[in-house]
Amino acid sequence: MERVGGTPRFSARLVDRHWLAPGILELRLTRQEGVTFIPGQFLRFVMDGYERDYTMVSTPDAKTIDFCIAMVEGGRFSRDIQKADIGTPFELTGPHGHFVFQGPANSAVLVATGTGVAPFVAFCRSGLGTGLLLHGVGAPDRLIYRDILQSALPGYVPCISRPFEKMDRPDNAFAGRVTHYLEQQLTQGVYDFYLCGRGAMIRDVTALIDQQFGDSRLFIETYD
Ligand SMILES: Cc1cc2nc3c(=O)[nH]c(=O)nc-3n(C[C@H](O)[C@H](O)[C@H](O)COP(=O)(O)OP(=O)(O)OC[C@H]3O[C@@H](n4cnc5c(N)ncnc54)[C@H](O)[C@@H]3O)c2cc1C
Repeated sequence: MERVGGTPRFSARLVDRHWLAPGILELRLTRQEGVTFIPGQFLRFVMDGYERDYTMVSTPDAKTIDFCIAMVEGGRFSRDIQKADIGTPFELTGPHGHFVFQGPANSAVLVATGTGVAPFVAFCRSGLGTGLLLHGVGAPDRLIYRDILQSALPGYVPCISRPFEKMDRPDNAFAGRVTHYLEQQLTQGVYDFYLCGRGAMIRDVTALIDQQFGDSRLFIETYD
């Protein structure tokens, strides 16, 4: 493994790629000896002419390094990864980032939208999952890693923003956005909030925390 300005740079091969849900791929790359990270961190894919960051959903000691990736219309990496053959080598740098579990100071409230659930999957798989997890999705079939999250966290609440058939309603689901759940259901208190996903959700939830849960601690990872 080479180091560039103190950051490890290494190569890993694509060993598996499959659909987790409509529009969401799970990738598995080989993990060579010495590659390690803290659950919640991300790796940077150094592509031909551009770079993209993705959070690991696997544990640091697993045989493969796994990611869940939402396909974006017109996205460069989204296009390139669908075309890559199994066995393709990728250049990566990292681990990067500080979005890691900070210890149980206050009750944890983990809030994700879409593939923003990735660091929380890594937390749960590493035995660090605790507290309440709100996973915001458009429809029930986008609830990736539901079994793992539900069994690790009794406080797992899928938040489904679009109307859906009652028969498709997962156990414990909340009909509405994560912001509505926090506004309407979370009791007053001081929490450790961990927010991960698109900027719009992070902005809305941060404003709400400022108004309603002012003394809480806040940790964020923005995907755009
Ligand atoms: C620290 C970090 C960790 C990340 N981890 C993950 C992860 O684990 N899983 C994951 O899926 N993504 C993750 N992302 C986002 C990821 O890095 C890319 O931005 C995303 O996959 C789009 O890349 P692309 O090359 O396919 O699209 P691009 O070529 O970058 O974008 C094409 C167009 O789509 C828009 N766009 C970009 N992302 C989205 C989106 N999510 N929804 C709608 N429109 C979008 C862009 O604004 C642009 O107009 C992370 C980002 C950061 C900063």
